Amino acid sequence: MKIVDSPNQDERPPGTEISLVVLHSISLPPGEYGGEAIERLFTNCLDPQAHPYFQEICGLKVSAHFLVRRDGSVVQFVPPERRAWHAGVSSWRGRERCNDFSVGIELEGTDEAPFEPAQYVSLISLIRRLQHTLPIRDIAAHSEVAPGRKTDPGAQFDWARLLAGLAQQ
Ligand SMILES: [Zn+2]
Repeated sequence: MKIVDSPNQDERPPGTEISLVVLHSISLPPGEYGGEAIERLFTNCLDPQAHPYFQEICGLKVSAHFLVRRDGSVVQFVPPERRAWHAGVSSWRGRERCNDFSVGIELEGTDEAPFEPAQYVSLISLIRRLQHTLPIRDIAAHSEVAPGRKTDPGAQFDWARLLAGLAQQ
């Protein structure tokens, strides 16, 4: 697993149980895969001149713990025990500030298109690995913790496939 250290992280509140995974999708520029733009965004190095869309987002201070690329390769930006900045204003079952108690995983993709089989394979093994060390109880879409504001990872994300993979011994 490739490690790229994001400056967009801090300590979780003391004693926080990390019980939630929040799934996202991202592609930069939107709809284009590969390239370094996601890594640049999460390390505050995105060149606003490189694409018109980058001008809108280059000032954001955001990150996720992990990115699963289209080929299934995984990049870690923030260690799971630290807080990444992925969910924004959010709540899960009445509990606000999901960044405090969640692990954020980005899937390279869009809200409209299916994800790759290799991404499910990597996502399942990543979540299983997290479950060995963290009391993960729930997996939610960004759209579920920030309804009306976010739509990722989108309707094409195959929840049944993920849950079946996680249920296999
Ligand atoms: Zn998201």
